[in-house]
Amino acid sequence: MPAAALTDTSKLCVHTITTKPLSLDEALEAYPRAGVRGITVWRQALEGRNPAASGKRIREAGLSIVSLCRGGFFPAREASRRQAAIDENRRIVDEAAALGAPLVVLVCGAVPGQPLGESRAQIRDGIAAVADHARACGVKLAVEPLHPMYADDRSAINTLRQANDLCEALDHPAVGVAADVYHLWWDPELEAQIARCGRAGRLWAFHICDWKTPTEDLLNDRGLMGEGCIDLRGIRGWVEAAGFGGFNEVEVFSNRRWKLDQRAYLEEIRKAYLERA
Ligand code: ZN
Repeated sequence: MPAAALTDTSKLCVHTITTKPLSLDEALEAYPRAGVRGITVWRQALEGRNPAASGKRIREAGLSIVSLCRGGFFPAREASRRQAAIDENRRIVDEAAALGAPLVVLVCGAVPGQPLGESRAQIRDGIAAVADHARACGVKLAVEPLHPMYADDRSAINTLRQANDLCEALDHPAVGVAADVYHLWWDPELEAQIARCGRAGRLWAFHICDWKTPTEDLLNDRGLMGEGCIDLRGIRGWVEAAGFGGFNEVEVFSNRRWKLDQRAYLEEIRKAYLERA
C-alpha cells in the first residue's frame, strides 16, 4: 500500500551535500528555519573542523545527526591499498563516534576492469575487518547499493538483494543497509527485498530524491521529489511496512540547484517533501 502523505517535517532530514554551497555553520542556521529536523553530514562539511565540537553545535541547533557519509571504497588491486582502505574506514568510524553519528553509510567501491565478483569479495572482507571496531565504537555501518550504472568504479553492490546477501554472509550486528530510491526504484524485486531487509532488522536508512527524464548528468542531475518517475509513496509504503520509522533523507546532487540561493532551495525542498514525497 502506498504511504500516506507526510503531514509534517518531523522526519525530514537533509544531506549536507544537497546544499553543498552552504558551510556547516550556515546549514545549521538554515535547516531548522526550513523545518528540517535531521542532518546527514558529508565528510567534506567537516573538513578542518573538530568532529566532536561540530556534533555538539549540530545538536545545539536542534538537529538530529542521522548519519555520516561516507565510508567504503574497499576494492583495490593491491593488498596494500585494500589495507589502506580498511584503515581509512576505521578512522571514519572514529569520526562518526566523535560527531555522535550512529551510522556510517558505505559506498562500497569497485575497480574498473576488475571482475565484479572479485570486488564483491574484497568488499565483504573489508567490511568484516571494520565491523568489530564499529561495534566497539557504537557506530553502525550501512551498505548502500548503487545503481548498476555505477558498477564500473563506485560500487559492485548494485541491488538490494546483493546488499541483503552481503549482510547475511557477514551476519554482524553492526552491518545493515541504506536504501536509496535513486539507486533502487527500477528493481522488480524491490518490494520483496525491502521486506526481507526489514525482517532481518537491517533497514537503517532511507534516502529520497527523484529520477529525471532525461537525466543530463549521471551523477549530478538528481531531481527533487515529484520531479521524476520514481513511485516515492509506493516505495515509502514498502519501507514503512518493513518496520522502518527513521528519517526520510533528502539527498540530491544537482549541478543546477547548487547554483541557486540555498535558503530558497530549502523552502522548495520542504514543499516537495510535504506535497510529493
Ligand atoms: Zn544515498
